[in-house]
Amino acid sequence: MTASRAALVPRMAPFTTTIFAEMSALAAATGAVNLGQGFPDSDGPAAMLRVAQEAIGSGLNQYPPGPGLPVLRNAIAHARSRDHDQEFDPDTEILVTVGATEAIAAAVLAFCEPGDEVLTLDPFYDSYPAVAAMAHARHVAVPLRRDGTGRLALDVEEFAAAVTDRTRIVLLNSPHNPTGTVLTREELTGIATVCRERDLLVVTDEVYEYLTLDGVAHVPIGTLPGMAERTLTVSSGGKTFSATGWKIGWVCGPAPLVAAVRAVKQFLTFVAGPAFQVAVAHGLRHEKSWVDALAVDLGRKRDRLCAGLVAAGFEVFRPQGTYFVLADITPLGGTDGVGFCLELPSRAGVVAIPAQVFSADADRWRTIVRFAFCKADAVIDDACARLSRLSA
Ligand code: PMP
Ligand code: GLN
Repeated sequence: MTASRAALVPRMAPFTTTIFAEMSALAAATGAVNLGQGFPDSDGPAAMLRVAQEAIGSGLNQYPPGPGLPVLRNAIAHARSRDHDQEFDPDTEILVTVGATEAIAAAVLAFCEPGDEVLTLDPFYDSYPAVAAMAHARHVAVPLRRDGTGRLALDVEEFAAAVTDRTRIVLLNSPHNPTGTVLTREELTGIATVCRERDLLVVTDEVYEYLTLDGVAHVPIGTLPGMAERTLTVSSGGKTFSATGWKIGWVCGPAPLVAAVRAVKQFLTFVAGPAFQVAVAHGLRHEKSWVDALAVDLGRKRDRLCAGLVAAGFEVFRPQGTYFVLADITPLGGTDGVGFCLELPSRAGVVAIPAQVFSADADRWRTIVRFAFCKADAVIDDACARLSRLSA
């Protein structure tokens, strides 16, 4: 095959390797403490794990139905109603996907024509620009900016100004990776007003919906007036139940929108993971108190890591949700997060992720790096002790 035939299409060239794979490989190669890629180092609820094992043992190993097993779609409907007062028909308004990643990809591919715009917050999760590129859509990003309290906040006027006649999807994420911002009711109301006025479709990535800290409320934008009919709500079991490798996700919304996503989704993967679907159904119905305890524990871990980072000389952005914290390396003399993160394993034996890779405006985030705190206390303490060498 000639080199030109082997070449990746140019629009995918910026996406050859994910930062998570790269930094986890660096952690594995160097033996550094991995606070880069966000995955917990302990398992989800024991009863949920047993349900998966028993399901495999009892022969639930062939293709599940295209929309997902009814037991899971029913459990998703139950949980959205119990926790957010959202009502969805499990047969027509809920689709099980291979993680939130597939739900988002299928939605973008289902609704975007070439040249349409996908509007996100900046910074953004790494799959958003990649799926926009797959759809030949244009990715437009509106910055979160530090407000007077140090919180990374959305200026709704700036958001409104970014909407054009080509805006097709507003792809939101709250609680937000990597900043830890949980959008407030006021911010969401402002976004919702713009979306109604401009007749926009909203895809809302709520994979951290249960991981808010200090009792901060997560408001699904689909619950705001006039939004249910234009919102696809995406979530998954990965973060909620500390089972990121299971990749059981879902999308909920009006039947015609869900049907459009299903049309694309069935040709991405068709289906996956029937035993995990049954187990996540168990989690959604029966493990709410386990999840609540996880969120409380993560609040403690956030404090533990933030204290260690401050002691090591970083300036931290205290998150309201997720299990990530952003930290500024400027006080340590750092000027570039990529170089800093590449050297961090050898300098301190720790892996972090440079925040600039999540942004269309790398300069704004050049000195900011992301640490994950979904780790055992001893691991966090070990990382903090190692990081304290940086200022020694
Ligand atoms: N969205 C965000 C904001 C994420 O941080 C992640 C990472 N897990 C995903 C989507 C992907 O979720 P899933 O593993 O369910 O595909
Ligand atoms: N969501 C995880 C993070 O932000 C990683 C997911 C992945 O590796 N694709 O760290």
